Amino acid sequence: DAAAILTRQRSRESAARTYARTLPIVPVRAEGAIIHGADGRRYLDCLSGAGTLALGHNHPDVIQAISETLASGAPLHTLDLATPEKDAFVEELRASLPAGLGPDAKLHFCGPSGSDAVEAAIKLAQTATGNQTLLAFTGGYHGMTAGALAVTGNVAVKNPLPASGSVVRLPFPHPYRCPFGVGEASDRNAGPGGAQLSISYIERLLDDPLGGVTSPAALVVEPVQGEGGVVPAPDEWLTAVREITRRRGIPMIVDEVQTGVARTGRFWAVEHSGITPDILVMSKAIGGGQPLAVIAYRAELDVWLPGAHTGTFRGNQLAMAAGRATLRRVRLDGLDDRCARLGARMLAGLAEISHGRPQIGHVRGRGLMLGAEIVDPSGEPDSAGAYPADPRLAALIRAESLHRGLIIELGGRHSAVIRLLPPLIITEAQIERALAMLADAVDAAVR
Ligand code: PMP
Repeated sequence: DAAAILTRQRSRESAARTYARTLPIVPVRAEGAIIHGADGRRYLDCLSGAGTLALGHNHPDVIQAISETLASGAPLHTLDLATPEKDAFVEELRASLPAGLGPDAKLHFCGPSGSDAVEAAIKLAQTATGNQTLLAFTGGYHGMTAGALAVTGNVAVKNPLPASGSVVRLPFPHPYRCPFGVGEASDRNAGPGGAQLSISYIERLLDDPLGGVTSPAALVVEPVQGEGGVVPAPDEWLTAVREITRRRGIPMIVDEVQTGVARTGRFWAVEHSGITPDILVMSKAIGGGQPLAVIAYRAELDVWLPGAHTGTFRGNQLAMAAGRATLRRVRLDGLDDRCARLGARMLAGLAEISHGRPQIGHVRGRGLMLGAEIVDPSGEPDSAGAYPADPRLAALIRAESLHRGLIIELGGRHSAVIRLLPPLIITEAQIERALAMLADAVDAAVR
């Protein structure tokens, strides 16, 4: 039974597990945005496999694609050999890529995870430039392998720090916790979340021939920071960063592991600003719920010799089938537009919930990638006007949400930001239900 399974797995697996510790349920069946627990209860899933399940659980297209591949007798493990399934996946993926990458864009299949793709992107940029140093941002999250961890901002997950190349951290604009501590209202020159100050900081750093960074290998950035607490980069800021890196010949790696495949209301989040990355990092939803990770990049960066970057699990046929079906359905059904519309409603709903509930310090997001920062309103605001994060209350809200049948996660540097990543096929009624459960959960947790 569920309790026995929970107890057994808790004692046998490392305490490093995250979700299992905070979401004590045993899922046994699922469809769409609903997970059925072994306890007989239904849960509305606003985590969707950490943002992986664009079409929700067990979407008919994905099940059909996987079933047909299984029934066809095709080899399921094919290293990186050419296969009809890969061919079909690549056709679909290429059709979705940001226009600026052009028809000559190269693809590289990486190991199965987002971290693997980040590693590949970093290594490719370092090989192409002959440089080592990486530029990354405060609050950024790129994965748990050594290189990806090095460019991740949150020290809580990388202590002690594994060996890695040198990383220079740059300030990421934040609409609530401005990295410059000036606040939007108090300094008009800072731009939204300190965007303008961030840009001039980066320019001055790169201009400084003595203490600065003269020859970086790459700049790595998320268009919306996910694990970092759901922080959308302002479009004009991202455009300025693109301009700086273009002018200086620094490859720009855009990590769309979490934002990709319509999550933010455009197929790729870079489409909001119209920028073109030099290297686009993709994973999570592109595999339709199965492990898959790919980088796409400008052909000029294709400097690797045969065998220069390998890996055993780069030919997962089931993932390619599931991914192809997912990308196709997202395109045919215009799920990007739907996501933008439903996301706007959900964000407005969060703003409504925050009125009269000062424990919700800030709500933000883009498309169906939303966050609500939980604070202690009785505390002393910082120099940006933000109240202290309240991770204890945030964890309570998560528990109260689960109690009501709503699955949510936390993120942000203090784990005090409620993150909502529902599947893109969530219905309007389910969104209203999620909002109602969340409001109840906040009230119960505050009491
Ligand atoms: N980059 C981003 C933006 C992510 O959100 C994540 C995972 N949350 C990763 C990289 C790492 O992916 P994985 O966990 O599959 O290694």
